[in-house]
Amino acid sequence: MSGDTQQHGGLRTPIVAVLGHVDHGKTSLLDKIRGSTVIEGEAGAITQHIGATAVPLDVVSEVAGSLVDPTEFDLPGLLFIDTPGHHSFTTLRSRGGALADIAILVVDVNDGFQPQTEEAIKILADSQTPFVVAANKVDTIPGWQVHEDAPIQQTLDAQSDRVEQQFNEKLYEIIGELSDAGFTSDFYWRVQDFRSNVGVVPVSAMTGEGIPDLLTVLMGLAQRYMKEDMEIDVRGPGAGTVLEVKDEQGFGTTLDVILYDGTVRADDTVVVGGVNGPIVTDVRALLKPRPLAEIRTESRFEKVDEIAAAAGVKIAAPDLDDAIAGAPIRAVRGRDLDDVIAEVQAELAEVAVDTGEEGVVVKADTLGSLEAMANALEEAEIPIMRAEVGDIAPRDVAMATTVEEEEYRAILGFNVDTLGDAADRAEQDDVEVFRSDVIYQLVEEYEAFVEDIERRQK
Ligand code: GDP
Repeated sequence: MSGDTQQHGGLRTPIVAVLGHVDHGKTSLLDKIRGSTVIEGEAGAITQHIGATAVPLDVVSEVAGSLVDPTEFDLPGLLFIDTPGHHSFTTLRSRGGALADIAILVVDVNDGFQPQTEEAIKILADSQTPFVVAANKVDTIPGWQVHEDAPIQQTLDAQSDRVEQQFNEKLYEIIGELSDAGFTSDFYWRVQDFRSNVGVVPVSAMTGEGIPDLLTVLMGLAQRYMKEDMEIDVRGPGAGTVLEVKDEQGFGTTLDVILYDGTVRADDTVVVGGVNGPIVTDVRALLKPRPLAEIRTESRFEKVDEIAAAAGVKIAAPDLDDAIAGAPIRAVRGRDLDDVIAEVQAELAEVAVDTGEEGVVVKADTLGSLEAMANALEEAEIPIMRAEVGDIAPRDVAMATTVEEEEYRAILGFNVDTLGDAADRAEQDDVEVFRSDVIYQLVEEYEAFVEDIERRQK
């Protein structure tokens, strides 16, 4: 059991997500955090979870040195979601919002704000997720003198005036862009309250400079936020979100789950969201990754009796084939089964749309992406007839053909395939099928399609 990182003063481990534009350094930053937190000796060690990495408080304070006084915190540490990017962020939703408690928005200091930075900011604002900006790649400022893994003040003190001036300019550019996006922000060391002001933390995912500062700011942000909103009983029946539905040799279909509340036990009955409604099943095994050194002789996974939030865990159970990524999962333990089913049902219904009006049929791979699609279409004022999770099936084509004005019949599929003879039927019935793994592309293609119809009608 890795109870060590989980319970501490009544607050659970905050869940941290990393977002930002492609190539701005999200993966490198996570790797660096993992690398700098592999500390030997008295401090504990990071723990690898399924889909996440836990960095306990004593390790954070070891890395952050004088910046973090561990006695000031009631938090057990930080749990970083391993898959960066907003696809996983929107997949991972919990009751009424994002699953991640706080986020890091990575911005390359040379590149500034880019389309995916803007998209990420919008997602963070919509889900009201507090975040900090990691102004990454400071080591690439011409003339920068590297001080590996040092706090930013220390390395900044050693730079020439010219380098420091460039550094300031680059950070002010980011602060300006944040302001255009509607956020007040400042160099993190001048920020008093990280929830009303976005702290900009200069870092290098390459050299480790500023990583102590980033961890410090994250702890401060999480502490303020969690204290007010997140005091929970981690012994209650567990609640989580499905990160992935995966076939695992020897276990059949399994769920990778991020648990944000309570405890799941190996003998629990759980309810999980499925394509055709809630699935009720009994846990067969709770699995954690085995430490690398032991894998040579043993299976990749270790069975555990229970696991408490916040944590990433793999759940093996029968009947999981129809489970969907992004769906809620709940342990029933001690509660009325019908109540739990109703809760899961309600959460699924929040995003599955059936308007009964004429419009497009929308299919998406996860609940989170479905929600993002629905929002994007609403913004573009494109009416939706039905929106749900799953591949494009013949019955979706049938649904689309109920639109009276034939030329407008369309299905928009985000990150999904076409099943069986759905493609052939769409062709026969003149239903236009758009598929992409980029939301704005789907919206733009559909808009072009409508414009074309309207031009021809003139
Ligand atoms: P992601 O697409 O946001 O996950 O970006 P990656 O982490 O894959 O980084 C993109 C590229 O930028 C890689 O070649 C990294 O080595 C490089 N990179 C990331 N962070 C830094 C940094 O702090 N300094 C420098 N010099 N290069 C970096």
